Amino acid sequence: MIGLEKAEKTASKRFYIESYGCQMNFSDSEIIASILSAEGFDATRDAEHADLVLLNTCSIREKAEQTIRQRLTEFKRIKRERPGMLVGVLGCMAERLKGKLLEEERLVDLVVGPDAYRTLPDLITEAETGTKAVNVLLSREETYADISPVRLDSNGVTAFVSIMRGCNNMCAFCVVPFTRGRERSRDDQSIVNECSELVERGFKEVTLLGQNVDSYYWVDPVSGHAVDFAMLLEKVALISPTLRVRFSTSHPKDITDRVLHTMAMYPNICKYIHLPVQSGSNRILQLMNRTYTREWYIAKVKRINEILPDCAISADIIAGFCTENEEDHLDTLNIMRESDYAYSYMFMYSERPGTLAAKRYTDDVTPEIKKRRLAEIVALQNQLSLDSNQRDVGKVFEVLIEGDSKRSAQQWMGRNSQNKVMVFDKSKDGVKPGDYVQVKATACTQGTLIGSIVE
Ligand code: SF4
Repeated sequence: MIGLEKAEKTASKRFYIESYGCQMNFSDSEIIASILSAEGFDATRDAEHADLVLLNTCSIREKAEQTIRQRLTEFKRIKRERPGMLVGVLGCMAERLKGKLLEEERLVDLVVGPDAYRTLPDLITEAETGTKAVNVLLSREETYADISPVRLDSNGVTAFVSIMRGCNNMCAFCVVPFTRGRERSRDDQSIVNECSELVERGFKEVTLLGQNVDSYYWVDPVSGHAVDFAMLLEKVALISPTLRVRFSTSHPKDITDRVLHTMAMYPNICKYIHLPVQSGSNRILQLMNRTYTREWYIAKVKRINEILPDCAISADIIAGFCTENEEDHLDTLNIMRESDYAYSYMFMYSERPGTLAAKRYTDDVTPEIKKRRLAEIVALQNQLSLDSNQRDVGKVFEVLIEGDSKRSAQQWMGRNSQNKVMVFDKSKDGVKPGDYVQVKATACTQGTLIGSIVE
């Protein structure tokens, strides 16, 4: 009987997975872990003794793919010693390169795209016969809504919940629409169920994930009832007043006042918004196909400050996009000052094959200029972050304890509603990760608020 044999045969099988890139990928690895454990695989942290090694990859910049190629060379040695071990490349690099990856990286047995993880068990069986296995079909429906993620490396306090997949925007520099396909939202009830289950298991914070959460839109096929992002946020916030709700990533063209008012209505929806800007120049924003202007963006920031005065904002910023000149660069520095970001993710433009920019524009800003402009952006952001933290010194924040501080086991680490990291002494008996405490900020660095528990 194939099923039992397979179950018995695979029961002892172990898989090892490494995840790279965005939080979406880490969440996908938890879906993959669930699919494999249902097949009798056990997760192991030890690649040397794994029967299946999986790399869940990112393709957002050239460097991300180089990291994977380097990692694959390191697995060559293990594979030589254990030829039966299977190596699989999953995620965005797998989707971008497809079967070509097998030609370029001989030790790879499996290539599986972000929408094909359900077929992993069959692909593994195929690869176990010595045949290279590939499935990179993108889907317009797949959301893995019925698969309960297996939390990997979890602190037992915070968890990510994906609410949608893919992206319908076509930002000129971005590979995501090609590697993750068209946008599709997950049914709201399965999201509420997953969050409720996490609450029952003692988790205290969920982050709702999507490439562009503001375009979340689910229509119940039976009732025809539609749920948009503001409604979903409210449903999740109503699960429990002690469940913190975060979300990422927002899009300046789609974020609505209704979302902001919903955030204002519920204290447990955290006052933090990640609002990528990418550039401050209208000319560059147009070339990037970001579909908004700097004036539109600034108006959104003002609206956030009006409705949510204590809300922190962070951004993604690209330095050195095609044809960017000094004036464009100064526009970016100015929009950072006007938006007063608490922190940002800042990168040099990296041309990605197959994107609109790669097809239409020349990557003509020299690496030296990209580097210098990025350094100026980072220096400004460091100052903005320090100023923002210094303004918080003296204030008391409700902090969710996540665990020990990296620096000292005598200190707790947690975050306030604004998603700022706070570290403070373990001065109060009986508190543990998952507890909320009132912490007064007494000092700060650019990246951390330092404080003490107040009763
Ligand atoms: S919104 Fe733009 S940058 Fe973000 S995932 Fe979609 S295409 Fe990429």
